[in-house]
Amino acid sequence: MNTADSERLASALEYSGLTSVDTHDKADVIVLNSCVVRQSAEDKVVGTLGMMKAIKRSNPDRVLALMGCMVGPKTDELKARFPYVDVFMKPQEYAPLLDLLSLDTEGCLANLTPIRPDISGYVPVIHGCDLMCTFCIIPFRRGRQVSRPMSDIVREVELLVQRGMREVTLLGQTVDAYGHDLVDETDLADLLYEVSKTDKLVRLGFLTSHPIFMTERIIQAVRDIDKVAERINLPVQSGDDNVLHNMRRRYDLVQYRNLVEKIKSIIPDVSLSTDIIVGFPGESNEEFENTLKLVEDVQFDKIHILKYSERPGTLAARKMVDDVSKEEKQYRFKVLEETQKQISYKKNMSLVGKTLDVLVNGQKGEKWEGRTKSDKLVVFDCNKDFLGEIVNLRIESASAWSLKGALV
Ligand code: SF4
Repeated sequence: MNTADSERLASALEYSGLTSVDTHDKADVIVLNSCVVRQSAEDKVVGTLGMMKAIKRSNPDRVLALMGCMVGPKTDELKARFPYVDVFMKPQEYAPLLDLLSLDTEGCLANLTPIRPDISGYVPVIHGCDLMCTFCIIPFRRGRQVSRPMSDIVREVELLVQRGMREVTLLGQTVDAYGHDLVDETDLADLLYEVSKTDKLVRLGFLTSHPIFMTERIIQAVRDIDKVAERINLPVQSGDDNVLHNMRRRYDLVQYRNLVEKIKSIIPDVSLSTDIIVGFPGESNEEFENTLKLVEDVQFDKIHILKYSERPGTLAARKMVDDVSKEEKQYRFKVLEETQKQISYKKNMSLVGKTLDVLVNGQKGEKWEGRTKSDKLVVFDCNKDFLGEIVNLRIESASAWSLKGALV
């Protein structure tokens, strides 16, 4: 989300005649885009702001802006704490800086759309979140869910594709709730159908879903629209009902497992990933074992594991005791990581010998790399430039994290 926001602001500034420089001390305008999803991330922002104080003092005409989730609904406290910051902007709120610099790009989508986008990029479609998971600060900082009008999103994707993007991932904290707040009652399936009509768009994905909003209609759209990648990130967070209840996730394990079964029956080759927090307050060994069992049963393609850390301002921080030791959290993290590594390795090995369509999206050193429709990273050697194209690769070898292919 932050990367997408930064790209949009950078685009508006570039359109207005500013150019980027490589170090702070050469800049007339510095924008710090903040992430506060974890306390450690916020601490990093505060540390960088401390460093910025001297940079601002060395040239008081320099404009210093703080943007992103650290700027919540109230900025008074931030203004008192960081008086040398010239402007504070909430996520996706670019106008305060543009106004201060007397740059008028308001209402002009073209100016906010990255000028030289990467082959694969993001388009935010929802801002904020209406849920209140007890561990999460996002609803307090990004506010309630606001879906962007479909016509704006379609227009933005068209522009990005005209400028070279080939793969678009639609972004929202609960992207499968897209449209629930719009009067015309469109949903994510409608949006996927509309966006996929974009000429020269090769692949379309979406992130991140919440299990309670994932409907059969959306799953069928993923199956039926050729450009839509058959991958779904479905954060479960825990495999235990008691922990899920304490997290206030609004589903239980039976519901989650049923949903996974439904997705697998509609899209047999689906690539499923999930997010898991280990060491949530009160999580017992047995409750963790239930999470482990879920991971073994579902056989996800990928999991993102986080060790719980208290986030001031959340309900969990106010009402629950962070009582799982650091060592235990690390142990649970490692056990899950190792389990998933073996699952991923087995899944990737099953692709050896197959020929897959890969969208080439970059080069690292001598090697080209790209992703399959199910989000597998494939590297290959080639002396031709296939950037942005789909190539047929025969998979020659695999590790838990990636595949190695050769042009057919
Ligand atoms: S659904 Fe996601 S963004 Fe919303 S409160 Fe829960 S974890 Fe946070």
